[in-house]
Amino acid sequence: MLDSLKKIFSGSEEEMPLTTSSKPDISREKSVELYEKAKNYFPGGVNSPVRAFRSVYGTPLFIEKGDGCHLWDADGNQFIDFCCSWGPLILGHNNPKIKEKVTEVMQNGMSFGAPTALENELAELILKHNSLIEKLRFVSSGTEAVMSAIRLARGYTKRDKILKFEGCYHGHVDALLVKAGSGLVTFGETSSAGVPKSFADETIVVSLNDRAAVEQAFDQFKDQIAAVIIEGIPANNGLLIQDKEFVQFLRDITANNKSLLIFDEVITGFRLGFEGAAKYYDIKPDIVTYGKIIGGGMPVGAYGASAEIMGSISPEGPVYQAGTLSGNPVAMAAGIAQLTELSRSGFYKDLNSKAQEFAESIQRFATSRSYKFKVFTIGSIFWFAFTDQNIKKAEDIDAASMEKFKIMHRELLNRGIYLGPSGYEVGFVSAAHSKTDLEKAKRAIFESLDIVFKK
Ligand SMILES: *Cc1c(COP(=O)(O)O)cnc(C)c1O
Repeated sequence: MLDSLKKIFSGSEEEMPLTTSSKPDISREKSVELYEKAKNYFPGGVNSPVRAFRSVYGTPLFIEKGDGCHLWDADGNQFIDFCCSWGPLILGHNNPKIKEKVTEVMQNGMSFGAPTALENELAELILKHNSLIEKLRFVSSGTEAVMSAIRLARGYTKRDKILKFEGCYHGHVDALLVKAGSGLVTFGETSSAGVPKSFADETIVVSLNDRAAVEQAFDQFKDQIAAVIIEGIPANNGLLIQDKEFVQFLRDITANNKSLLIFDEVITGFRLGFEGAAKYYDIKPDIVTYGKIIGGGMPVGAYGASAEIMGSISPEGPVYQAGTLSGNPVAMAAGIAQLTELSRSGFYKDLNSKAQEFAESIQRFATSRSYKFKVFTIGSIFWFAFTDQNIKKAEDIDAASMEKFKIMHRELLNRGIYLGPSGYEVGFVSAAHSKTDLEKAKRAIFESLDIVFKK
């Protein structure tokens, strides 16, 4: 099981230990009340497990509203938000342009189950700035996009096996809720109850950055591997930036074996640019999946490929995939408004330079005090790791270091900074974070690091 998943599944609510923090803990009276109520309705009181705060101190904050880079919880605490709904909110909360477009489109009804011009509009906007794919299909989540991409790869190649990497998360697709067993190349073992062993048997799991394991898998399962799937930049279990040489090797070995290469760009798509990690590596995958940013905060995912490969999808081809709310007009409107802003010249340059400056000055602070702390970063994504190693694979993350993250998370909340509630999760800088906000956040981060590392 991914350590991050294990934490979420098996973690328990923990008493807040006494701290020598100079700040009192934030008041959570209303959030606690809402959480107690929610526990009557939802397993663990939440509709997605990481929200339950099982990997950090305290109970989840119930959010009342967001605006720009700020969040307010039910108790009126205000935070600078670096979770940004786990990535979608690259323009920040409650962006006026998105709100306006959504409000306008909503006046005409919420869903028709029939095509609308809005789907064309969002597709045109995407394809105009993307040379990786010729056709796409809209779905309603990242999970759905990945699940469909896997089926497409299997249908197109007429093969069953999928190769994935330990530490990459691809949503809660059965075939991908699989972890490595022991040994170089292993059939996966399920990382969730309820996934049949026979499904996991179709998934091969190897370590990131491990050529020998991938080569051995292709030898052992000759002509059986439909696709290799990798997160564009693995960013769900730390930020595990891969070398271009390794990704190029995946491109070559899949092409040589008539397997497909799938980039899961649910985080990196539209985050690093319209062409995501593929552009960063300058490597063209066969199928790409998108989610998160693509919907401007509404539930949208997509998968795309060449016209030839997409020709396998029903009703053109034999691979069935459908959705009652796919291409939902209100969701399309949010995506159109968001991607229109992102397509403006200089958008990514400005965002990335702001984020890089932020990450670099935190690293400089930690280095100047000899703290065993590293900021991994690319574009506007960052990950705080309590290590001095250059980590490239999930197995190299020290689970014990997460204790330090817990302390940091609490200190940051007490100073008005909201990070995702797990040390395995990355943070995001949005266009709505001003230099002043980032300065304020940096001061809070410095103080928190001093507390984490105090003797
Ligand atoms: C978030 C994520 C998913 C799953 O998307 P959902 O919308 O949560 O279903 C899949 N792949 C990657 C890389 C992700 O980050």
